[in-house]
This record gives sequence, C-alpha cells and structure tokens, in this order.
Amino acid sequence: MMFEQDRTALSELGREMVEKGLTRGVGGNLSQRGDADHVAITPSGIPYDDIDPVDVPVVTTEGDHVEGELTPSTETPMHTMIYQQRPDVGGIAHTHSPYATTFGTLGQAVPASHYLVSYIGPEIPVTGYEQPGTEALGREATDTLGEEYNACLLRNHGVIAVGSDADDALETAQMVEFCARIHHHAVSIGEPIILEDEYIEELIEDIAEYRQIA
Ligand SMILES: [Zn+2]
Repeated sequence: MMFEQDRTALSELGREMVEKGLTRGVGGNLSQRGDADHVAITPSGIPYDDIDPVDVPVVTTEGDHVEGELTPSTETPMHTMIYQQRPDVGGIAHTHSPYATTFGTLGQAVPASHYLVSYIGPEIPVTGYEQPGTEALGREATDTLGEEYNACLLRNHGVIAVGSDADDALETAQMVEFCARIHHHAVSIGEPIILEDEYIEELIEDIAEYRQIA
C-alpha cells in the first residue's frame, strides 16, 4: 500500500480528533504529506470510526486523486494550497471545535490572553468568509496563515491548524481550542490582560526551538 504510514496515522488520528471533542460526526478533516508531491487526506462524509488505512485517499499536491477508493475531503483544495505555500508544513488539521469556532463566528481574532497563543503566533487570526470546500476559502486560509502562523480561525466555520505532521497539527488545533476557551471565560467575567509583544516574541522563539527538539 502506498504511503501506508501516513494513511494509518490519519485513520487513527481521526478517531482522536472526535474523542478530544475537536469535531463531531463527519465534520473536519486531517491530512499528512507523504512525499514532496503527495498528500494523504481523510475521505469525505465517512464517520472517523469507520476509516481504515486502505480507505484513506491519496492526492497529489495539485489535488489529483491517485489512491484509495473513497472521495477525498471536500476541503482538499484548502489543504493542497497550504502544502504548496508552506514547505515547512507536514500535516494539517481542520476542526470545528466549539470555542474557537465561536470566535470565528464573531469574526474576532483570539489575542494573546494566554501565553500558549505563541504556539500559533502573536494572536490567532481570523479569515474573511468564503464557502466551505472552495478554492476561495483556501486562498483566505493561505493568506491569513502567511509564512508564520500555525493556525487561523475560518470565519463562521472552524479552525485550520498546521504542524510538522498530522499529529503535531492536531496538537496545534488543541492549543487553539484551549486558548479560545480561556479567552471566552476571561471576557465573560472581566477584561483579560493581553501579553505584551516582547513576551510573545520571546515565547514564539522558545516554542519553535522546543518543537524542533521534540
Ligand atoms: Zn469544515
């Protein structure tokens, strides 16, 4: 089986994404770079519990379906556009986690109210609205992520998070949800103190170093 390791990882991580409450039903999707030109991506519309490694489709970075019987995720264009723009990215997680999605529906970035925002960047930015599954949404995501951000909120939709592989991207997605949750609680009872830029810049460097070692 082509890209067996990557497809096995995605079949396991899909279940994990649901167990961690980052998505529900068949929502969200995961992908992992197999080599420079190929990406394994979760199939469209199949419950995560039912996805065996052999079912996981493989597409080229241009989006052509080359392996696996099932239809690749409807968000394949967004994934492939990110892989094309960011050679540093080896995995992508797209979730509909509730607190992060709440800020996304407000069109509000999550500021550095908790230091772990530095896993993502100086803040968790938010895209403009585009319809799910479109290249226009992919452009919004790639523009908002730029070269530096490890995640962003998709307005009125969810989260896109990147990492060195799909497991790492899922961890980023969890950080996004945690930071959004804390920020939500903080603004519910008061006015959070936002960390100064100098602290965040230092933390971004420390975390990049820590992730490289890990
Ligand atoms: Zn979605």
